Amino acid sequence: MKKTFRYRLHGLAMDPRDTSDPVEKALRDWRIDPRALVQATITRESVDARKSKPVKRFTLELVTDRPFHRHMLEPLGDPKPEPDDLLSGSLALPERVHVVGSGPCGIACAIALAEKGYRVVLHERGADLATRILAARRFIKGADLDPETNFLFGEGGAGTFTDGKLTTRTRNRLVQAALKQWVDVGEDPSIQWRAKPHLGTDRMRVLVAGLRRRFESLGGEFRFLSRLEDFEVRSGKVASATFSGKTESVEALVLAIGHSARDTLEMLAARGVGFEAKDFAVGVRIEHPQEMIDRRQYGPKADTGVLGAAEYFLSCKTQAGPGAHSFCMCPGGEVLPTTTDSRELATNGMSFRARAGTWANSGFVVPVHRQELTTWAARNGVPDDVWTGVNFQRKLERDAYAMGGGGFRAPAQRAGDFLDGKVGQDLPESSYARGLAPSDLTTLLPEFVSSELAKALVDFDRKIPGFIRHGLMIAPETRTSSPLRVPREAATLAVPGVEGLYALGEGAGWSGGIVTSAADGLRLADRAVARR
Ligand SMILES: Cc1cc2nc3c(=O)[nH]c(=O)nc-3n(C[C@H](O)[C@H](O)[C@H](O)COP(=O)(O)OP(=O)(O)OC[C@H]3O[C@@H](n4cnc5c(N)ncnc54)[C@H](O)[C@@H]3O)c2cc1C
Repeated sequence: MKKTFRYRLHGLAMDPRDTSDPVEKALRDWRIDPRALVQATITRESVDARKSKPVKRFTLELVTDRPFHRHMLEPLGDPKPEPDDLLSGSLALPERVHVVGSGPCGIACAIALAEKGYRVVLHERGADLATRILAARRFIKGADLDPETNFLFGEGGAGTFTDGKLTTRTRNRLVQAALKQWVDVGEDPSIQWRAKPHLGTDRMRVLVAGLRRRFESLGGEFRFLSRLEDFEVRSGKVASATFSGKTESVEALVLAIGHSARDTLEMLAARGVGFEAKDFAVGVRIEHPQEMIDRRQYGPKADTGVLGAAEYFLSCKTQAGPGAHSFCMCPGGEVLPTTTDSRELATNGMSFRARAGTWANSGFVVPVHRQELTTWAARNGVPDDVWTGVNFQRKLERDAYAMGGGGFRAPAQRAGDFLDGKVGQDLPESSYARGLAPSDLTTLLPEFVSSELAKALVDFDRKIPGFIRHGLMIAPETRTSSPLRVPREAATLAVPGVEGLYALGEGAGWSGGIVTSAADGLRLADRAVARR
């Protein structure tokens, strides 16, 4: 392999109105021959609005085919070898593979397997994209919840109605391959090198449609309203599966079911699939006027037409407890009821590409570790086992539904009232369309969650003045990540003891977010031998 050289380049500053390519500017300003460039990634991108003239600042990682010695160009060592490289293309799967779930993980896996020559059937319990968009619109306007087609289930999975932030902490080969798969179906190539690409739900829908076209053009078969209900193992191998009442023989079953299909998770446990508990986080969605966040982050004179709606990420460590942090912030977005059960309520945030909405919302959550779950189980007189996390989430969601008074009205409280122990009836306007019920959230949330949120509010208000005064807390945020993980064999990714059964993505506890879920889907396809 030809030797390459890796560098980090700090301090590239650009006028926010300048829409030219930051990589091209960096090569020009640092006198790097563009022909020497092998790869470029923007690893950090921020707006510095403290000065009278705001600037955008970038940190880049450059790989070149020859060495360069320049001011502010920091040489980096060789990248760590990725274990996946060793295993690429060595796993023989049967010719026909059934993938369950069309979220970012399932569709990425299905396309990559079809590209390798497999006959892939993709089962999705919910409806196709167009039907789903109509169902979501009706639900938001007050219709009953369809438990199969909603903000979490249906074509594109939980990824469709999201903020569409494509941020990841890692940029490994599979992440790059996932982004490339999206570029190949028409997404903007800049998602491959930008630090914080944002699509919004409108572009996510275009992407979801493009991925389906690609899958079907490869001969893939998409089956909607096809829910995996059961499967049978004979002599340690997957032998058949039942999809919406129809049983067929199946040799390879890939589960990419997300973390909200609790019925399917329970069915898997009943069939002997092992689970282990993992940490997650719960709390509320907190909403503020976007204009207030813009003013605090950019200063009073900043032009958001040029800079875009302002973001924040906040975290607070506390001495005795698990602390709290903001999660999945949606500038200019809206708060949604993201649930699949008509007795449960959970919230999350979505935005459109323009991020032009009146409000900023963010998850405002407290990590939940084993220790907190054990205490909670003892206090509530319930068993403490691998399912405690799921039961903890479910109880919070049911209590929230009841506290809201039904109809998916969400319990809500001003942040100031939450700290003062008051239930103010004068809730501010909100993006949450199903209505809010003035509530005392300290009686809903477990004590350790309320007390950590209270401490964090004071801390966040120091960092963004007005965070308390203008903050509206909408409960609950419970599905930040899966409380469970399915162990899998390192070499084959199979569920231990069951040949032909694979558990991938967020529902299996191996990813968190759109991009890493797609990358985990590719992890299996990457290991499969090519059939043509
Ligand atoms: C409102 C919201 C906003 C979000 N915003 C972001 C964001 O901005 N950036 C980000 O990175 N992440 C975001 N996320 C998280 C992201 O959407 C998930 O991490 C990602 O979609 C997980 O991908 P997945 O394919 O593993 O599972 P999912 O997307 O959950 O897909 C699972 C699919 O499996 C199907 N399924 C389940 N059970 C069965 C069954 N028995 N039979 C057949 N099909 C089944 C479901 O219907 C679903 O379509 C957001 C999530 C929500 C809810």
